[in-house]
Amino acid sequence: MLENLSQRLSKVVKTLRGEARLTEANTQEMLREIRVALLEADVALPVVRDLVARIKEKALGQEVVGSLTPGQALVGVVHRELTAIMGGQAAELDLSVRPPAIVLMAGLQGAGKTTTVGKLAKWLKENKKKKVLTVSCDVYRPAAIEQLRTVTGQAGADFFPSTADQKPVDIANAALQWARTHYHDVLLVDTAGRLAIDEQMMREIAELHRQLQPSETLFVVDAMQGQDAVNTAKAFREVLPLTGVVLTKLDGDSRGGAALSVKAVTGAPIKFAGVGEKLTGLEAFHPERMANRILG
Ligand code: GDP
Repeated sequence: MLENLSQRLSKVVKTLRGEARLTEANTQEMLREIRVALLEADVALPVVRDLVARIKEKALGQEVVGSLTPGQALVGVVHRELTAIMGGQAAELDLSVRPPAIVLMAGLQGAGKTTTVGKLAKWLKENKKKKVLTVSCDVYRPAAIEQLRTVTGQAGADFFPSTADQKPVDIANAALQWARTHYHDVLLVDTAGRLAIDEQMMREIAELHRQLQPSETLFVVDAMQGQDAVNTAKAFREVLPLTGVVLTKLDGDSRGGAALSVKAVTGAPIKFAGVGEKLTGLEAFHPERMANRILG
């Protein structure tokens, strides 16, 4: 992940050996390296500018304290700023409503939405001891409904069946009723995706949101799409009040641009990362741990 950034940083750290402190002159080269590495990682341009400006400001303000060399101080500054741009603190799922808490999932087709519903069902059951019901409002792809049934079974959660001739809002309301009467803690609502942003899909998910008033609206997006992922998230954010993002396929993403840009561009924090195809491949997202990973 962002190998170039850690490589470029260690190169800079070496050249800083022998310097007493970070100065305008010796910081210049390092900022250039960081800028290039972030651009190579497909981080959104305004985010790159902002990050580099903040790193510069903080780095120049640093006196070398105690045993810290200028290089170590610099790495510390970069670590703190990477963490901050990803939201600083880990953002948890908010399920503190009268049950059932509703989690509405949005995203393009192929982003990993249905898989993520299965993963979340398992995560909620095992880590939070929740009784979970899932439902699919994807009336356009019967295979998607079947796929959800399968992953829900694997997760050991309950599945509310739906059929292609029903209306998404009716399905969701029926599932909600069922969840209420069967004492489920959480209702996970999978929705229809499209290959690209499309007005009807947006209207449909906005309507589901209005009807359900979910406590969480999670946007699922493929990290490997880099800046495209961030732009799609931004478009959804304009229509839906997203409460968080699930960044999938982080296991296959060697660049890390989406992870670094999503929060800054959309305002919605990354709450989970998908790190594999299996249902165990879901991690709560921690900005600081991600920064550790990025810096190697
Ligand atoms: P949907 O159309 O958004 O519901 O997407 P799916 O859940 O059907 O996922 C599309 C493909 O992405 C499937 O082959 C999944 O196995 C794969 N996938 C989903 N999440 C991850 C992940 O975190 N890592 C990897 N490597 N593959 C994933």
